[in-house]
Amino acid sequence: MILKNKMRNLRNKIIFLGTGGGGSMVSLQKRSTAGFWANVEGINLYFDPGPGAMWHIRQAKLVPDDLQAILISHKHVDHATDLNALIESIHYQMTRGGWNYKDYKVFIPPDVYGLISEHHQKMPGQIIKVKAEREYKLKHLKITTTKNLIEKPYYKNRLDEFGYQVKGKKIDFLYLPETFYKKDLAGNIKSKLLILNMMKATGDYYLNTVKVIKELSPQLILLRHWVRRTLVYGVKKLVDKLQKDTKIKIIPLKDGDVFNLRTKTLES
Ligand SMILES: [Zn+2]
Repeated sequence: MILKNKMRNLRNKIIFLGTGGGGSMVSLQKRSTAGFWANVEGINLYFDPGPGAMWHIRQAKLVPDDLQAILISHKHVDHATDLNALIESIHYQMTRGGWNYKDYKVFIPPDVYGLISEHHQKMPGQIIKVKAEREYKLKHLKITTTKNLIEKPYYKNRLDEFGYQVKGKKIDFLYLPETFYKKDLAGNIKSKLLILNMMKATGDYYLNTVKVIKELSPQLILLRHWVRRTLVYGVKKLVDKLQKDTKIKIIPLKDGDVFNLRTKTLES
């Protein structure tokens, strides 16, 4: 039976099914680790399907069959656990009907490939092992990668990590996962809207976040990836301080928030 299309109208919107991050939230789930779904000019993209992504997609009455791409920033559990589940869900088209569906792409840092089971490696039309500062096509969208980032100094030369700019005819944004500062980290990417993953709220983590924001200098930041320690520190306290130190408007995200990419405002 083909179920009726119950998909919400998400045209030119992002729904943040998860705003949590780190091992603490993988365990606690006080903020979901599901990642987020973006519709850019009719193209559906899923970013960083951590634990719970499939469950939250269905809870939000979205249909995984409708995705044209999955994009992974790095291989950590809070960003990539549900990748195989999502590939399988798109492949079998359980809602729309059909199977062996291929018309979608998976963008991954090269070291994520080993996380995809042999069985699932054959399913997508294309799995793209991205390189730094490259431009890729997805329908009419341009997907551009940042430099290889540094999740934290411990992972230097041990982890591939990238941010992605998505650019359509009228809409563009940059999604940057948690990273320490690196000079010119976004290369030639210029986006007025930055979706940024927060590291811890104190010490070097905080100072590096300030440097990253100042370098990119967007007009608006949507901040997410809350770890337990940030919740203990206080999201409002952190955002007030960050806005003061960077002079840039920051919206802290909550699970389920819907951001309108046209009006640049939250809808929920
Ligand atoms: Zn993370």
